[in-house]
Amino acid sequence: MEQCACVERELEKVLHRFVMYGHLSEESLDELLRYVSELRGQLVNSGLKDSDLDGQFSQAMGRCCKNIKDTVQRLASSHKDIHGSVSKVGKAIDRNFDAEVSAVVAENMWESRERQKCLSESIVEHLYRQGMLSVAEDLCQESGVVIDRSMKQPFLELNRILEALRMQDLRPALEWAIANRQRLLDLNSTLEFKLHRLYFISLLNGGIGNQVEALRYARHFQPFAAHHQRDIQILMGSLVYLRHGIENSPYRNLLETNQWTEICNIFTRDACALLGLSVESPLSVSFASGCMALPVLMNIKQVIEQRQCTGVWTHKDELPIEVDLGKKCWYHSVFACPILRQQTSETNPPMKLLCGHVISRDALNKLMSAGKLKCPYCPMEQNPSDAKRIIF
Ligand SMILES: [Zn+2]
Repeated sequence: MEQCACVERELEKVLHRFVMYGHLSEESLDELLRYVSELRGQLVNSGLKDSDLDGQFSQAMGRCCKNIKDTVQRLASSHKDIHGSVSKVGKAIDRNFDAEVSAVVAENMWESRERQKCLSESIVEHLYRQGMLSVAEDLCQESGVVIDRSMKQPFLELNRILEALRMQDLRPALEWAIANRQRLLDLNSTLEFKLHRLYFISLLNGGIGNQVEALRYARHFQPFAAHHQRDIQILMGSLVYLRHGIENSPYRNLLETNQWTEICNIFTRDACALLGLSVESPLSVSFASGCMALPVLMNIKQVIEQRQCTGVWTHKDELPIEVDLGKKCWYHSVFACPILRQQTSETNPPMKLLCGHVISRDALNKLMSAGKLKCPYCPMEQNPSDAKRIIF
């Protein structure tokens, strides 16, 4: 962040200079034009012919030419100054950002066609998620990636509904929620109720003219009476104030506008859950994690090089140190072996012993002697083959 601010400061300087240069050139040119047209006026009024220009006029012409030349030169030299500040931005970028990130990327990472295809597919999926359909189609064509229609259909629908919600049109979302009612209820989703509630509120917004319609619409709350009794009571209570305006009543908080952003978020979350998709795009999560991990990896690379112990980091599916990406990036439980004090992995998975204690497989192999194992916690003796692998 600090680096960005550094570059931004240089950029500000350049922009400032550009603006100043714009003003300067405009002023100088205006002045020059005034001067030339004045001279021209004098020349026309004097009625002199080209052949008999007197000494006074030719002197004035000479001054004018010199003036033009000087102005152009002055403008050119201040334009050159801008070049200096532009190149300073480039230097600031070089100084603040390490361009050599390839050193921390495993070689041949994207060489195989299979991997390139995976990358293109992830980008296309990301674009579909963001609703950038035409860009996704173009990328498909150019990269030769074939996306199954059944894969993109959910994204198209999701975006269509979200687009309508952003325009405060609840109907597509309501239709979708009603069609998927049971599955949403299985997920403990309150989406459908919240959509009906918002529709009801938009009727309240229309004033007393909507009273009958609002009352009629209230029937939609019936299936949700058990779970949302309190909310429904509040909505019905607000009807009393419809004549005087809800905005002047104790129910004015029903009209808060941030409910539209909230309903978009709830819809995205629940629709993604229903479709078996993560709420955030996997590509943007990977990218954000990479951005967080990169400075740490660059530092460790520098340390490795300074201590001249290259070769320590083999790039083989492992990082030389643990990179903490924060709680936001915790997607599943992790288990660290209490004996080896290492996080378990695919090659060294957690094993549950007969007594219930859990240690890693490497620790188990180390503790085993003569085909027997003594639990390091409750000294129960057991057969190592009774230990079972645990999958978190
Ligand atoms: Zn035990």
